[in-house]
Amino acid sequence: MNSDAVLLLETVNFAAEKHRNQRRKDPEGTPYINHPVGRSPFVVMPSGVARILSHEGGITDIEVLQAALLHDTVEDTDTSTAELEANFGPIVAHIVQEVTDDKSLPKQERKRLQVEHAPHCSRQAKLVKLADKLYNLRDLNRCTPAGWTEERVQEYFAWACEVVKGLKGTNLALEEKLEELFKQKGVQL
Ligand code: NDP
Ligand code: ZN
Repeated sequence: MNSDAVLLLETVNFAAEKHRNQRRKDPEGTPYINHPVGRSPFVVMPSGVARILSHEGGITDIEVLQAALLHDTVEDTDTSTAELEANFGPIVAHIVQEVTDDKSLPKQERKRLQVEHAPHCSRQAKLVKLADKLYNLRDLNRCTPAGWTEERVQEYFAWACEVVKGLKGTNLALEEKLEELFKQKGVQL
């Protein structure tokens, strides 16, 4: 196996271990790891964030793909940025840090900061953010999380659109797919 393949396997393994007890918010409670990694063969799920980048965005930058696999580990598990740096180096750790919300802040403030920070992110972090939003919006179209109203789904699309506006000019293929989803919901990118 070449070294990139080994590196990606190590990264998937790390993410799987960290997210092992978590589930997504969809009604089936899909294992969380499906979100960063990829498709389940048993149900019609969106491609995972890393797979969206490679298959739909044409991205082969190994650090972006690793950051995509790890993108929710710091925000949603006990993983620290220092731990990512020790295991995967400073570039991957930095990209993940850029896409990590500060969970000590109230939700509304975190949402506002995502919109504000998006244009200032590195190109690598912008790619991960585009694929993350594309996954979440496709998943919301596939089924509504338990307890979410249609209005809340619509609000999520409108907010995601504000974030994506700040990511424009990063990857045309992904942006076109996002634009189509926003259009279907009557949201203007
Ligand atoms: P959350 O932030 O609670 O949930 C969305 C996030 O959950 C996504 O960004 C995604 O993040 C993750 N996620 C996990 N499973 C799924 C899934 N199946 N589909 C989509 N996303 C999933 O939701 P909101 O952003 O809507 O809520 C936050 C705001 O909404 C608050 O500010 C609150 O005030 C408001 N609110 C509104 C309500 C309403 O009815 N209008 C009700 C309650 C709150 P990741 O990819 O990082 O895992
Ligand atoms: Zn995510």
